[in-house]
Amino acid sequence: MDAMLRIDMSAAGGPRARTGPLGEYEGMGGRGLTSAVVAREVPPDAHPLGAANKLVIAPGLLSGTAAAMSGRLSVGCKSPLTGGIKEANAGGETADALARLGYAAIVFEGKPPKDALFTVVITKEGVDIRPAEELRGLGNYDTVERLKATFGDKVAIISIGPAGEMKLPAASIACTDTELHPTRHAGRGGVGAVMGAKGVKAIVLDAAGIPHRQPKEPERFAAANRVWIEGMKKHAVTGEALPAYGTNVLANIINEAGGYPTENFSVGTFAGTAKISGETEAALETERGGLATHACHSGCVIRCSGIFVDKDGRYVTKQPEYETVWAHGADCGIDDMDTIAMLDRLDDDIGLDTIEMGATIGVAMAGGLLDFGDGPRAVELMKEVGKGTPLGRLIGSGAAITGRVLGVEHVPVVKGQALPAYDPRAIQGMGVTYATSPMGADHTAGYAVATNILKVGGFVDPLKPEGQAELSRNLQIATAAIDATGMCLFIAFAILDQPETFQALLDLLGAFNGSAVTADDVTALGKKVLDTERDFNRRAGFSAADDRLPAFFRTEPLAPHNVTFQVKDEELDAVFSW
Ligand code: SF4
Repeated sequence: MDAMLRIDMSAAGGPRARTGPLGEYEGMGGRGLTSAVVAREVPPDAHPLGAANKLVIAPGLLSGTAAAMSGRLSVGCKSPLTGGIKEANAGGETADALARLGYAAIVFEGKPPKDALFTVVITKEGVDIRPAEELRGLGNYDTVERLKATFGDKVAIISIGPAGEMKLPAASIACTDTELHPTRHAGRGGVGAVMGAKGVKAIVLDAAGIPHRQPKEPERFAAANRVWIEGMKKHAVTGEALPAYGTNVLANIINEAGGYPTENFSVGTFAGTAKISGETEAALETERGGLATHACHSGCVIRCSGIFVDKDGRYVTKQPEYETVWAHGADCGIDDMDTIAMLDRLDDDIGLDTIEMGATIGVAMAGGLLDFGDGPRAVELMKEVGKGTPLGRLIGSGAAITGRVLGVEHVPVVKGQALPAYDPRAIQGMGVTYATSPMGADHTAGYAVATNILKVGGFVDPLKPEGQAELSRNLQIATAAIDATGMCLFIAFAILDQPETFQALLDLLGAFNGSAVTADDVTALGKKVLDTERDFNRRAGFSAADDRLPAFFRTEPLAPHNVTFQVKDEELDAVFSW
């Protein structure tokens, strides 16, 4: 994995690929690499949909190896949603395939004339770029079916749906899972719109027959991997709760904590939670002949996913995750799992971020466009996004723009990106992460729920401001480093609680390179990534004023705890002072 593939989409005569060494990016991977390329090569004042922006797709440092859980694919660019730097990552099979093909990154540059559309095919023989007119306008599911008919079912596919082609700010990039379904998405920040602007409909990765990347110290690597897998299996969250109920096991927990944002962040509990909880969802999947436990990529040992089928046992979508069930459920007052699963299917097919879409429909409900709880109308609205009607394009532009157009005061966004499924008044550590992350409101950037609610890695009272800035800082540093490795973020539960599991991760990294990797090295890596991202945002015009939650979180108490967000601005401003 020592090559960088650059594809100039504006080259005379059609897109031109060239492969070269990593050079100054040697030793980087995942988010570390995408953010370094964007920060160094994209002018901070570039239009996100213009030729000067770049789309960087990078597997992590350990992707393509035999290390368990190492299948995340990072996508980076200047975001059309936030205007700042963006990294969004996804599971599925694509990171493993791209890494085994030998590429540390694909960098798309320029843009083609006249909205031309292409498919990029990467095999061990090289790179082939061909017109994709026959795929224009297709959803991700049909796109994958067509490509499967041509390239067989041993490939992995990265694609965009109509939302990406329309360059909507909420457009995602889909990655295929172990069943070759386009269900794993680099969702946040409109990365799909940038892929659409580059004129890339799909990337087909054929790594069949290519072995795993080999470590420099194979025995040490294999031993570390055994301890690593054991660590995932023995922790209560990664070994029991996530496999049994998926990420939506959190619905009851966050609802009981009073931090489950309901009806556009009006209250912290939802009366319909029992009908859409992880326990209910898993039971429904099992009863109907779906799957309650499933891995999104072949190297996963946690298996937090599942397969959701309808009442006749027909495939609908992958198991909708906690954030998706919340976004289309509690935040919109919808308590019907089949409706939520249909909305998830539409998100995946049209190519949209489920969090942004749920939050946007919640804002549209607050603005009177439809009633809270109106599932059928929410489904119609989503279909309008896919068709590209003017109303659909408004919804596909996200919560901030929709709120402005509809005159809504309660618009839960930071840096233009919608808040996920944890109310920052009842889980104040999350509020610090939402406010300060260079990505905009992003739960994965520093998952304070672990310590505020699940008591993993200690305990910090979620309702009080004390200790939240430090908690978020440490989690943001650790997350930036994990996102560089290609590891699924859910490993964090095990490494926060079990020192030997954290040591196994260090050993995997060290054994792969034939070096010693320490905890200090990981901390330094995380800080470097964050410094790089914040520097880009500063040059793009962001200031401390952008590291704030919307005012209503400070002025409107949240029931049932009747608490406001209380972390002081000075503490927010000191999160990245090291
Ligand atoms: S834990 Fe879940 S998200 Fe992570 S790799 Fe496994 S199935 Fe995918």
